[in-house]
Amino acid sequence: MKKIAILGSTGSIGTQTLEVVRENGDIQVLGIAAGSNIGLLEEQIREFHPRLAAVWSAEKAGELRTRIADTDTRVVSGMDGLLEVSIMEDTEILVTAVVGMIGLRPTIEAIKAGKDIALANKETLVTAGHLIMPLAREHHVSILPVDSEHSAIFQSLQGNEKKKVHKILLTASGGPFRGKKEEDLLEIRVEDALKHPNWAMGRKITIDSSTMVNKGLEVIEAKWLFGVDVDRVQVVVQPQSIIHSMVEYVDGAIMAELGTPDMKLPIQYALYYPERRYLPGERVDFWSLGKLEFEKPDMDTFYGLKLAYEAGEKGGSLPTVFNAANELAVRQFLNREIKYLEIVEIIEDCMRAHQNIANPSLEQILDTEAATYDRINSRR
Ligand code: NDP
Ligand code: MG
Repeated sequence: MKKIAILGSTGSIGTQTLEVVRENGDIQVLGIAAGSNIGLLEEQIREFHPRLAAVWSAEKAGELRTRIADTDTRVVSGMDGLLEVSIMEDTEILVTAVVGMIGLRPTIEAIKAGKDIALANKETLVTAGHLIMPLAREHHVSILPVDSEHSAIFQSLQGNEKKKVHKILLTASGGPFRGKKEEDLLEIRVEDALKHPNWAMGRKITIDSSTMVNKGLEVIEAKWLFGVDVDRVQVVVQPQSIIHSMVEYVDGAIMAELGTPDMKLPIQYALYYPERRYLPGERVDFWSLGKLEFEKPDMDTFYGLKLAYEAGEKGGSLPTVFNAANELAVRQFLNREIKYLEIVEIIEDCMRAHQNIANPSLEQILDTEAATYDRINSRR
């Protein structure tokens, strides 16, 4: 029995991870953590019998404790609770499926405790890749990508020499507003931006996909996961989301992973790596598909992607500003406090105002996050 813990078990990636666990039947879930959805946590506790469940809000944790008093699961709360789930003694893999930089400290502590990381929480790697990757090497821990593009790259690297990689071709669907220009985006509402053409995901990443900031975060994520400069990561729009990403080698050969858009594939691959298991579900049928299309991303309209390249190239604390500004701006957009185009305007404003810190420590990253939030909050 493989033993795992899941941060963000009630979210899109978290629930799909539990589906993979359910379908395979040979993984034991020792710990789960979520923000506040105790209704679903209770169901998960009753089905998977974890030893530990963490709830961010102390009040909700108290409620959950009462509701599951008849079980053997212990309920913890806050950052201490999240950390406790991250470093549980018997777990081999921690699935990081929380959304946002909140995943930073738990990921670092789990690595120090020798846990392999099945990483969905890209914000952590974007802001602290320079700390996480060396730490993982030091503790002989694997960082197994769950993000579909990075899983595709990881799969396309198997059996090949990493130093023979010429470039990474990171595919993008282009999101719901592909082909639109700035003037078409002035009045975009939350409902419009939450309609992704190919993937059903959490709200934050769905907005990020529509602005292409998600692709920007993925460019920086690829830089850390695969040790390449961002100028060797080329974004290719592939609207059908069948090619999940590709690797071009020095001899011109291109390896790719293709499939239907289903996050259970990369999740299962990360959990069982290097083993490949049967996965039920739809298969790609090239006869009915007919054709695949490719486009260059429109970085003038979707200039959040351009800003991400700048942040990834300059490094230091700038990717933290890029990410933190986006996190808060997206939250404000979802709360209908700002307009759609303001998301990327806010990111740019924060980046321009920032004094970059080379090689920031964890403290400095968290301070940069707080300073970015202060700047955005003082706008209003
Ligand atoms: P969701 O919004 O669906 O889920 C987020 C999860 O995090 C929920 O379980 C939520 O709990 C939990 N959470 C939020 N805040 C806290 C907190 N303070 N403490 C503990 N748990 C918390 O997000 P997704 O599953 O879509 O995304 C998760 C991560 O995976 C993101 O980094 C995203 O970029 C990445 N990713 C997602 C993909 C997808 O297909 N969804 C694809 C590739 C990457 P609660 O439900 O209680 O709020
Ligand atoms: Mg992705």
